[in-house]
Amino acid sequence: MRTTQLYAPTLRQTPAEAEVVSHQLMLRAGMIRKVAGGIYTYLPLAWRTLKKIEQITREEMDAAGGQEIMMPIIQPGELWEESGRWGAYGDEMMRIKDRHDREFCLGPTHEEMITSLVRDEVKSYKQLPLMLYQIQDKFRDERRPRFGLMRGREFIMKDLYSFDKDEAGMLESYQKMFDAYTKIFTRCGLKFRPVEADNGAIGGAHSHEFTVLAESGESNIVYCESCDYAASDEKAELKPIEAQAEEAQELKKVSTPDAHTIELLCKCLNVPVEKTIKAVAFQTETNEVVLTFVRGDHEVNETKVQNAVGALELRMADDDAIIAVGGCPGFMSPIGIKKGTKILVDNTAMNICNAVSGANEKDVHYTGVNPKRDFTDVEVLDIRLVQKGDPCPHCGKPLEMTRGIEAGQVFTLGTKYSEAMHATFLDENGKEKPFVMGCYGIGVSRTMAAAIEQNNDKDGIIWPRAIAPFEAVIVPINAKVPEQLEAGEKLYDELKVSGVDVLLDDRKERAGVKFKDADLIGYPVRITVGPKTVEENTVEVRIRRTGETVVCEKEKVKETVL
Ligand code: ATP
Ligand code: MG
Ligand code: MG
Ligand code: MG
Repeated sequence: MRTTQLYAPTLRQTPAEAEVVSHQLMLRAGMIRKVAGGIYTYLPLAWRTLKKIEQITREEMDAAGGQEIMMPIIQPGELWEESGRWGAYGDEMMRIKDRHDREFCLGPTHEEMITSLVRDEVKSYKQLPLMLYQIQDKFRDERRPRFGLMRGREFIMKDLYSFDKDEAGMLESYQKMFDAYTKIFTRCGLKFRPVEADNGAIGGAHSHEFTVLAESGESNIVYCESCDYAASDEKAELKPIEAQAEEAQELKKVSTPDAHTIELLCKCLNVPVEKTIKAVAFQTETNEVVLTFVRGDHEVNETKVQNAVGALELRMADDDAIIAVGGCPGFMSPIGIKKGTKILVDNTAMNICNAVSGANEKDVHYTGVNPKRDFTDVEVLDIRLVQKGDPCPHCGKPLEMTRGIEAGQVFTLGTKYSEAMHATFLDENGKEKPFVMGCYGIGVSRTMAAAIEQNNDKDGIIWPRAIAPFEAVIVPINAKVPEQLEAGEKLYDELKVSGVDVLLDDRKERAGVKFKDADLIGYPVRITVGPKTVEENTVEVRIRRTGETVVCEKEKVKETVL
């Protein structure tokens, strides 16, 4: 490829809309262009990198026994009705209707579709284990698409699904995928950690996230330097509740929550934030909480929340703030809880930190509530997220904390989908059994962004070689001089023949402009061809990551650096 033919419109200025460095650099390097919020076109440089990440992924999936397929993006609503997720998936699902008014979605994930495929085909334990995967666009109508490719609404994912005859088989498949993921991120040249993860709404017992280490990441992870424990802060085992009881304050009566709390609550519940709202009153009838928003003397809104026995957790999608509504029976109170505070709630248990609890009087609440001491009808779970310095749950040494980007996740699913969708096979004894499943995702486009977050400097991107759009660029200092351009062309042909993925910057621009672009786009190796190449047969080779330069004979370039 020659730069004169390459569509890579670079920008000198950092676009104002881009908050994180990967987004800024991908726009500046002419790799991506925005179409709509969270929706991007990949230009040739980005597409080359994406294809390399895909290829590494594909090779490791195949080596682990996976078989590639391609399922449709459009999925019928009925399949999701079967699993019970049509309603449960919520607003993140992009839904469409055909001309006959039938409901479909653009696939945010493919458990339902793959389960239905295998259900109709695989009848015997002899056909197991089975691992099928695809690399395809996924659609999630994220509440806040942001950070460029990091949180898109249309993005590329590799998703593999495993089908086994029993739990032991599932765990074997899980381990194969865990090992394959380790190889993939290693081959991509990234610093990462597999961490124990929450398995969220998807269900199942085991899960790990593969976290690419970067300060700009949205995930906090803890790890232990003395043993191999590592977990996301959502998963990490927390400080026991007893330790916190000592910190409990005295009960104090206070009035209704302050304006800021109310504002957060409104945001959280998706009701308009009315600055004039003065009070929020709550009632609870065992299993339902009614939130009534009051402005002056008028009710302005009412929201019913189901399945709240004594408490519930409401969490903003982007985790900026958590609001909990909780208290003792009779009155419920809103409490604003700082970012980073963990509240775990299931249908019957709750906990509160900085608790504000109802005092069975309208508009009056207590602060300093100690959940165990002050209300015994609720089981107390853990209160906050793990922090740096907390004891490692395995060896007790202080934990370290770092930030990262979730680039992949592996899950065991068990029989959640196969049971719901009646996907069964006949075992050795002719007995009908549900498939025991696992699912495994890698965000291919997010991995590209994560690679940039981890590898950049003030001049631009520093690609790990395996996923760079080109491994090397040849820059004739003055392409207007025919001998220099010819020497560049010749070297280009030789390197290509010897298998180097190389680009020739044949533009008749000033050398400074070409050097700047080379640094911005981040080719791992720059080979400069100039008068000395013509006269003495030498070229200057510069390593992007270290800035180190060597002068060597033209024929020695490959053995020197590539
Ligand atoms: P997140 O916690 O960031 O919302 P997730 O846990 O919802 O991600 P999974 O369902 O585990 O994502 O999907 C598998 C992989 O797909 C993720 O590990 C991530 O790399 C990628 N991914 C998920 N959502 C997005 C998105 N909106 N944009 C880009 N990649 C994404
Ligand atoms: Mg998500
Ligand atoms: Mg996640
Ligand atoms: Mg995930």
